[in-house]
Amino acid sequence: SSKDLGRNRMSRFESLLGEKASSRFHMEQALRVGIGGGELLLEYQTVSRTSDQAAVGVEALVRWHRDGLVHAPPNDFIPLAESTGLIIPLGRWVISEAVTQLGAWRHAGVVGADFTMAINLSPVQLSDSELLRTLDAACDSAEVSKSSVILEITESSLVSEGSPMTDVLNSISGAGYVFSIDDFGTGHSSLSYLRYLPTGQIKIDRSFVSGLLTNPRDAALVAAVIGLAHDFGMICVAEGVETSAQLEALQRLGCDLAQGFLLGAPVSAADVRIT
Ligand code: C2E
Ligand code: MG
Ligand code: MG
Ligand code: MG
Repeated sequence: SSKDLGRNRMSRFESLLGEKASSRFHMEQALRVGIGGGELLLEYQTVSRTSDQAAVGVEALVRWHRDGLVHAPPNDFIPLAESTGLIIPLGRWVISEAVTQLGAWRHAGVVGADFTMAINLSPVQLSDSELLRTLDAACDSAEVSKSSVILEITESSLVSEGSPMTDVLNSISGAGYVFSIDDFGTGHSSLSYLRYLPTGQIKIDRSFVSGLLTNPRDAALVAAVIGLAHDFGMICVAEGVETSAQLEALQRLGCDLAQGFLLGAPVSAADVRIT
């Protein structure tokens, strides 16, 4: 049956992954070469207003292509990049490429001055002493305002009050960049960081959105997170919106922005529909 076929394919895929994992060094070398060799690409997914579905920004998502094919998904190579330090050059490339693209759209008049570019930051990048300079250099050369650059970080990277990381976040936020807490609700962390960290956005994780209409607890969580975001003066974004029923529910709950396959899958810069 087609189900068996799928399973066979999957186990073949997994054994290939196993071979790759056994040669982690090989993959690390491949990634090192790939970063410098033009194998990384960015795709962009639109972020839309729930009220009228107008695109207000995009999120940049990195891809690793080799010979025209996907070489590995980000959920595989980002952790590798993080554990090997390659996330620093990779992350710098993502910042430069994404901000340059925003500048190109701005200057072509494709988007307005308040159109935003969201960039995922690994916690490792927060300890890169060049991070702020890298961001500033990208914004200066692309002539885009810092407040149009949104930096997505996960809760796992948020540490206790008074740690050096707080200073890093405060200086980057003080320079004008906006922080967004990605995959909100999935991290093993306390909410107390909301008391002192300079965050402008909360992104509700896809796992809560997927249960929004079927699981009353997910619905309660989504409603609570939207309320929490607004009480803190933050914008609330829902991730992984796949159906119009989910979008309508989010509209009713007052969620500001939404992102997901319903509104647009991640695509190349040339294919982004900004309407
Ligand atoms: P994320 O930042 O939470 O990004 C959202 C992920 O959900 C993306 O997966 C996106 O393609 C996918 N997605 C978007 N809409 C839907 C939907 O409606 N349904 C479903 N099922 N999925 C949806 P992707 O591109 O594979 O990225 C996975 C993760 O890899 C990202 O999660 C982010 O944590 C990380 N990542 C991607 N690009 C970068 C990057 O440039 N730097 C860093 N540090 N991490 C990155
Ligand atoms: Mg993200
Ligand atoms: Mg996310
Ligand atoms: Mg995620």
